[in-house]
Amino acid sequence: MQKVLHRSNALEKAYDISDFRKLGHQVVDMLADHLEEVQNNKEHPVLPYREPEDELAYWQKDFSSDTGVLDVLKNILNHSINVHHPRYIGHQVAVPALVSGLAGLMSDLLSNGTGVYEMGMASNAIEKIITDLMAKKIGYDTNTSGFLTSGGTLANLTALLAARKAKAPSSVWENGHKEKLAILVSEEAHYCIDRAARILGMGSKGIIKVPVDNHFKMDTSLLHAHYNRAVSEGFHVIALIGCACSTATGSYDDLHELANFAEKYNLWFHVDGAHGGAVVFSDQYKYLVDGISRADSVVIDFHKMLMTPSLNTGLIFKRSEDAYRTFEQQAQYLWDSQHSQEWYNSGKRTFECTKSMMAIKTYVILKTHGEEIFGENVDRLYQMASTFAGMITQRPNFELALMPEANIVNFRYTKTQEKDINTLNSKIRQALIRSGKFYIVQTRIQGNLYLRTTIMNPLTKESDLIALLDEIEKIASK
Ligand SMILES: *Cc1c(COP(=O)(O)O)cnc(C)c1O
Repeated sequence: MQKVLHRSNALEKAYDISDFRKLGHQVVDMLADHLEEVQNNKEHPVLPYREPEDELAYWQKDFSSDTGVLDVLKNILNHSINVHHPRYIGHQVAVPALVSGLAGLMSDLLSNGTGVYEMGMASNAIEKIITDLMAKKIGYDTNTSGFLTSGGTLANLTALLAARKAKAPSSVWENGHKEKLAILVSEEAHYCIDRAARILGMGSKGIIKVPVDNHFKMDTSLLHAHYNRAVSEGFHVIALIGCACSTATGSYDDLHELANFAEKYNLWFHVDGAHGGAVVFSDQYKYLVDGISRADSVVIDFHKMLMTPSLNTGLIFKRSEDAYRTFEQQAQYLWDSQHSQEWYNSGKRTFECTKSMMAIKTYVILKTHGEEIFGENVDRLYQMASTFAGMITQRPNFELALMPEANIVNFRYTKTQEKDINTLNSKIRQALIRSGKFYIVQTRIQGNLYLRTTIMNPLTKESDLIALLDEIEKIASK
């Protein structure tokens, strides 16, 4: 009996306001101290690397001990990669503007499901403002409609579902398809496009990969041949996908050329701008996506170059009705009317049912720092990447893979007696990661291994990049 009483007290305790207030202040102070250290002290590790088995053992031990929650949170900080560190130059994850993290705390506590209007009045209305702004920057007219969803992967899948609905026989949602459907995409496209097409039942043969030119852009002179071959093999090609930009090298496809081709053959034209579509916010760099407004659908991740915590992705349709047609089906308990176009019931258009209040995290950034902040971020990151590329070409021991169009810079160390440059560069990266001084990644370009950096942090300075190259020389000389 005693035990039962004790457990019900535990539930009361889970909602105790004074505990929350006290711990909340302590957590915010701890986070501020941590961020201050990470942003200002170059000696603080970017990534305090441990082997997976050691990390698991650490937490298994923690789980069976009586660590207090403040210590648990502190330990998580000390066992995690720090994207706010100016020497974080790795994967394409946004360095969140700090105010957006506070909106995230609110999103978690309010836990508005957002899919239906009543479960997210503010977040649905704010989502419309954010996606309308995105549509305006893309250059769409007023008959557009968009929504936010959890990640570029899901957004690209949703766009391809809409493409299938529009271009395959219209009964596809009811009856499936008997035709062999296919899409055309650059061989440099993100792997999630390949995955989405397989989920849609196209199989590997339905993913027609068009080779790239020596700037890693889709070679549009090969489009006709690939299209014609697919048709002669009995495929019904439904969509053409442009990369803006590609993930490995940051190369932008020629969107006007792609749009011309898609118009000619009545294909759905989708632009995967998960990373580089953010340039629509920059007066200086928006020329890179000239033609984007001719796309039927566009994906842009707010959690990549737009300073918002992950996951947070916009998917915008040129014609609003396409967004509503994708998932037309019965869900009586959610909506009174199945077929009406209600922007405020965002679940009518999203794959997700319950979704987080992601719009508010972006909104507070715009309200605090102004609409120009996104363009400034893109400009800073792209300029720094160009400066970094220049530095690499000045150093005789390094080779730049290609001049970057975006903030993705690939290079390798080439001064070695060893024949195996790939192994050397892989070892360099391992040593760099384990030192905790920098975080960079690697990729294969035409079979060769390159060190891959993406300048994501606007606080990364030239001096940090000089220090990176110096450190690589030091490691290589050992
Ligand atoms: C990152 C990326 C994706 C995947 O997006 P997630 O938000 O990570 O799911 C898709 N396409 C491109 C071009 C990307 O850069």
